[in-house]
Amino acid sequence: MKSRREVPERLTALAVLQSRVPARHEQRGRIRQDCRNRLAGYAGEKRADFFMAEARMRERPIVLRDVELPGVMTPIQTDTLILHPAFILVLEIKNIAGELFFDELSGQFYRMQSGKREGMRNPEDQLNRAIAALENHFASIGIPLPVEGAIVMASYKSVLQRAPITQPVITVDRLPVHLENLEKAGCLTLDRPQLIKMRDSLLVNRKKPHDKYLNWYGLAKADIMTGVRCPGCFVIGMQRGRGQWICNLCGVISKDAHLATLQEYRLLLGEMIFSNEVRWFLGLDNLAMAMRIINDYGIYNGHFKRNRAFALPQERFRLESYVHHLLYKST
Ligand SMILES: [Zn+2]
Repeated sequence: MKSRREVPERLTALAVLQSRVPARHEQRGRIRQDCRNRLAGYAGEKRADFFMAEARMRERPIVLRDVELPGVMTPIQTDTLILHPAFILVLEIKNIAGELFFDELSGQFYRMQSGKREGMRNPEDQLNRAIAALENHFASIGIPLPVEGAIVMASYKSVLQRAPITQPVITVDRLPVHLENLEKAGCLTLDRPQLIKMRDSLLVNRKKPHDKYLNWYGLAKADIMTGVRCPGCFVIGMQRGRGQWICNLCGVISKDAHLATLQEYRLLLGEMIFSNEVRWFLGLDNLAMAMRIINDYGIYNGHFKRNRAFALPQERFRLESYVHHLLYKST
């Protein structure tokens, strides 16, 4: 059961934002907290991937990550969806420490930690919405079937004090056994072409418009700290000299550190970039240097006659090592 889980775009954008918004900015605290929460979520999903790979099943399932379905009010996101000939399973993965309570009467979900009660989005409700949306979706493509769900507890520091009623909760270590049991119980008999049809119908929804991350926090372009990020210590502000980038903090020298930094620009401000913006964002002294750099990398867009515009290719993988560095630091 392979298929790599990409670092989600939202997490990458938050990682970029939290390091490019100055400490004095009023939104900095909120951005950092959101980033920490998403890092924890991602770490939980990766842990679930690890255990899922250990399941011994006769038939190979198709695993989809971060699938988005149109919902009534807002899109419905599923962390992990498993398409297997014998079952369809959607996982809601929670990486939350503390004592956890599902209150069936009020529909509330909260945790108690160090005597403090903190309410959170109810994973049971999220899961039930995802299941309903998936069942509707599969029926709409001519494959009506029941979808199973499970809430996966990915943190070893969590204790379930009151369980939900409608959905099973399993610890992440039990995931392989859970999958093996579902295969044995085998409620469905789907063939490969059907599974592929289901997969493809979900991947169609993948292309969504670019999120406006600056708007989320009411940020303006002027709130963003510019400069090239060091691929060694990940601090912003490399110096340009002799055709390369030098970090004065850790001494790393790089020829192409600006490529990842331009991906940060793309994530926050969109794929189009003018040559003077290249100069601004990379913190360069002169426009000629910016032009040289972007000519080698961006795709020239001839629509603009005076100020030259370029399209930056989508290469978000260039930011993965930075996010993994944060992940490593936070765990
Ligand atoms: Zn450095």
